[in-house]
Amino acid sequence: MSKKRIACDIDGVVANFLAGAVEYWGEPQIPVAYSLEEMFPHIPEEDLGTWVDLPSTYVDLPLVDGAREGISRLREAYSITFVTSRPEFVEDATVEWLEKQGLLGLRLIVAWDKAAVIEQYGFSVAIEDDLEMARRLAQFCPRVFLLNWPYNSGPCGRAMRVNDWEEIVTILGGNVG
Ligand SMILES: [Mg+2]
Repeated sequence: MSKKRIACDIDGVVANFLAGAVEYWGEPQIPVAYSLEEMFPHIPEEDLGTWVDLPSTYVDLPLVDGAREGISRLREAYSITFVTSRPEFVEDATVEWLEKQGLLGLRLIVAWDKAAVIEQYGFSVAIEDDLEMARRLAQFCPRVFLLNWPYNSGPCGRAMRVNDWEEIVTILGGNVG
């Protein structure tokens, strides 16, 4: 029997992009907002943009708590693919980061239209941190987890809000060791 497939977002699910920004720019004015402009209104947008466009930024990001353990527990029973709408110019940096984090060997799809990819390939589980995307994915993907962050509050439709990776593993896991 082939394994069920999980589509796993990267930023806000595996890579903690905002924590990376805090490491680089210092304490933000709003602790965890969705955009850097909201978190760091005192830094010129141009400078934030330059940082976002540097591939090295993506090589240095910290992990989301519990992501590595969660993935290593789930990959026994599921086929996990990272599906990200990061721009193509950071694809190499993304691979380098995954390698650094011990997450290599899993498939990576970089696609501007993430939802279309997830629908086309028939993933049965998706893990996401963007509220709108989670609601959208839940219209066709049987099980969508929305990892809870201060920036994604609000009704998430048919998606299931979870606090952390441990909760995802518990729900999907059962017999996963
Ligand atoms: Mg994300």
